[in-house]
Amino acid sequence: MGFQGIPGHEFVGEVIESPDRTWIGKRVVGEINAACGRCWDCQCGRQNHCPHRSVLGILNRNGSFAERLSLPLKNLHLVPDKLSDEAAVFTEPLAAAFRILEQCRIKKRDRVILLGDGKLGLLIAQVLKTRCRLLVLTKHQERKTLLEKWGIESYPTSKRKALSQSGNIGIDATGKPRGFAFAQQLVQPLGTIILKTTCAGRARYPLTPIVINECTVIGSRCGPFRPALQALKDGEIDLSSFISEIYPLKKGRAAFKRAGQKGTLKVLLKP
Ligand SMILES: [Zn+2]
Repeated sequence: MGFQGIPGHEFVGEVIESPDRTWIGKRVVGEINAACGRCWDCQCGRQNHCPHRSVLGILNRNGSFAERLSLPLKNLHLVPDKLSDEAAVFTEPLAAAFRILEQCRIKKRDRVILLGDGKLGLLIAQVLKTRCRLLVLTKHQERKTLLEKWGIESYPTSKRKALSQSGNIGIDATGKPRGFAFAQQLVQPLGTIILKTTCAGRARYPLTPIVINECTVIGSRCGPFRPALQALKDGEIDLSSFISEIYPLKKGRAAFKRAGQKGTLKVLLKP
């Protein structure tokens, strides 16, 4: 997005200033798209696509790698008392996983192949595991072990050719430009490909197979906070292995370095 400013869009915090004083002192998470509320998209309930929006830590709004941030009140959601900060901070990416259920009617008999065993992939896997026949492609042994613990079937990414056209829904959460092409190979004719990957670089995709196989491609971004918070509250999402390390904010550079190391999952910052 070419953003310059304070990054960070997954947070849990406490309200310290508000026009509505009842919010002060409340522990909250927040939706990251701040919409204008006046345009056609906003009036149609498509605030996440408001052309005038700012996005926390991504577009025209400083983000959460800071001691303070600002968001409209309507973006905030109260965090249930029983939820720890370390769990609540996953609401935003988990909501992005729940977005898939809003966009695609996934049925029990669907064969869903998920590419990507990173942070988002593992959240999507937990959201989908009881809702379809899920198969996750994995690169790392420790991720395979995690998936096994959750009762989710996995398969090595390196042998994916054997799975050619074996799913009717493919989800790309690889975060890599080639993820889309891989997903295409795994999906049957008339299948659906859901794209979660956003890449800074350009990618070249062969699009002809999409036409020949008449596949549906769905771009998928931010999702609903309510079911995400509910799932966290109900203990449906196992986050015990997600946090690799917690750093104080002033050691942000070290935190970034840690986050870039192979095999690292989530690195958190605390003021
Ligand atoms: Zn608007």
